[in-house]
Amino acid sequence: MPFETCVVETIQRTPDIKSIRFEKPQGFRYLAGQYIFITLGGGPEKMTKHFTLSSSPTEGFLEITKRLTGHPFSDALAGLNSGDKVSIRGPYGEFTFQGEYDKVGMLSGGIGITPLRSMIKYSIDKELGTSIILLYSNSRESDIAFMDELEGMQREKPDIKVIETVTRPGQEWKGVTGRINAEMVKKYMPDYIERTFYTCGPPKMVEAMVSLMRELGVPEEQIKQENFYGYD
Ligand SMILES: Cc1cc2nc3c(=O)[nH]c(=O)nc-3n(C[C@H](O)[C@H](O)[C@H](O)COP(=O)(O)OP(=O)(O)OC[C@H]3O[C@@H](n4cnc5c(N)ncnc54)[C@H](O)[C@@H]3O)c2cc1C
Repeated sequence: MPFETCVVETIQRTPDIKSIRFEKPQGFRYLAGQYIFITLGGGPEKMTKHFTLSSSPTEGFLEITKRLTGHPFSDALAGLNSGDKVSIRGPYGEFTFQGEYDKVGMLSGGIGITPLRSMIKYSIDKELGTSIILLYSNSRESDIAFMDELEGMQREKPDIKVIETVTRPGQEWKGVTGRINAEMVKKYMPDYIERTFYTCGPPKMVEAMVSLMRELGVPEEQIKQENFYGYD
């Protein structure tokens, strides 16, 4: 369904990731993990793209979070200011979490965090008590979107565990390093076989994570995936 809305806030998450918050239109309902279409401009300049809502349905605004590419749509989105109007359509998608599982594993890299942030926030706000372990890979520490928020959630909620790994660590980084692999899953999610997994991001990343879960013997019905087509 199409809705007109306007920007209420923009938040620079990392040097090349930005969140845009919109007024939640009356009657707009969605599930944690779903996406919308955003249309910018008009006439021949009109551009439409998919974006997962990084906000949770429990929050009073809609938020999308974009990896900035310097391409026309990206620049137009990054240039939005409070009060600017956009057209959205949705929600869509079946990569959702409503509290169906007691134990969840999340494997993500870079911008693929958006639906997972929504699901974790939803689980906390609804006091679902779901055990969620997130393995989140990024290139450098400065690339980790939502880092402070995720670490705060982990500190306050014993059900939430967040393991950040970086592939190009700087001198200061004291955490986990390297790409997500079988050893990491076994170490940080020893009960992985009992977990329902959510993996999301650019198709190459998702393909690698799904292969990893198959290699580990995770049953197919416990693997949920969302591909951000449009990124290589
Ligand atoms: C279900 C779904 C959910 C999504 N959710 C999100 C989300 O939450 N956040 C998010 O950031 N994205 C999300 N995406 C992806 C999003 O829709 C866009 O495809 C993506 O943001 C890229 O758009 P863009 O306009 O910045 O780049 P585009 O111009 O579309 O470019 C995309 C890629 O193509 C290549 N490319 C394109 N043009 C050139 C060129 N001239 N020269 C060299 N290389 C080029 C580049 O490698 C570039 O990274 C989602 C996609 C789907 C399908």
